[in-house]
Amino acid sequence: MRRTGVLAVWLGIVWLCVVVAGSEVFAAARPADRAGDPQTPVLGAWSVSGSRPLQVGAPSSVDESGILPVRVVAPGQARATVRWLGKTCVLKLDGGQAETFLPAPAKRPKSGSQALVVQAGGVEVRRAVAVRAVRWPVQKLKVAPKYVNPPQSVSRRIAAERKRTAEALSRAWSERLWKGAFVQPLKRMTTTNVFGGKRFFNGELRSRHQGLDLRGATGTPVRAVASGRVLLAEEQYYSGNMIYVDHGDGLLTLYCHLSRIDVRPGERVQAGQTLGLVGATGRVTGPHLHFGVRLRGQMVNPAALFVASKALQSVPGGSRRPAVR
Ligand SMILES: [Zn+2]
Repeated sequence: MRRTGVLAVWLGIVWLCVVVAGSEVFAAARPADRAGDPQTPVLGAWSVSGSRPLQVGAPSSVDESGILPVRVVAPGQARATVRWLGKTCVLKLDGGQAETFLPAPAKRPKSGSQALVVQAGGVEVRRAVAVRAVRWPVQKLKVAPKYVNPPQSVSRRIAAERKRTAEALSRAWSERLWKGAFVQPLKRMTTTNVFGGKRFFNGELRSRHQGLDLRGATGTPVRAVASGRVLLAEEQYYSGNMIYVDHGDGLLTLYCHLSRIDVRPGERVQAGQTLGLVGATGRVTGPHLHFGVRLRGQMVNPAALFVASKALQSVPGGSRRPAVR
């Protein structure tokens, strides 16, 4: 009888280990889902009290390479400064309010947290934001050999594309052009490859995956996730037909491998507007949309964008949904 009891306890422990290990693997493969689950009180630190001169809403924790949504209310003030990751940015307040996105560190700091410092009207609010480590997946892909080790003849082309992209990125707008909830780039969004995966092309480690791969048949409309301005729209060696949209305030979105581009650089676009069509141009294994998010100079997990934008709407006076979904 006692033996059976001991066995039952051991079986229980083994079962618990399997469940815990299993959920960890699941979380690692889908970091975005983890960032959005209920144990993450997004903007939980937010409190509304009219008498305080500076209020800062921000989550108490964020995933590696995630997005930290921040809302600032400083009645009577025109500007607020935000210090984060060793950089300072100035927020223009509209009616004493502003919201912004900050990129989480790509790697969890040794201390486990990152300081967020907001100042307005001589008042300072300081927060420690915990950075959660993510176990990024490994991705193995097979593509045409010329895309793993490009021939000499195209190296000049690739260098020129990189230069043009960097130049375009340096012209990004400082003022926020987006408002409200973000629209999904494809009406039906199924992720086939998450952000952050170590990518082995034909067995060779080449890069970390810097975006989300979304399932889509050739010809499916690709939509701007928010209003902004087309920064770059051209055909590139790796990205195929690609579009960079600048949403201002350091936020840009990238759409790659399109079969058709329907916008031109400099054009203003609205949230939900068709930018082009899904295709299989550039370094691909088949038709899909590669969707990337660049935030204040660093590529972040695009899945976090939708979670962060939802968080901003959840606070009193926060962004409202745009008409298009
Ligand atoms: Zn991709």
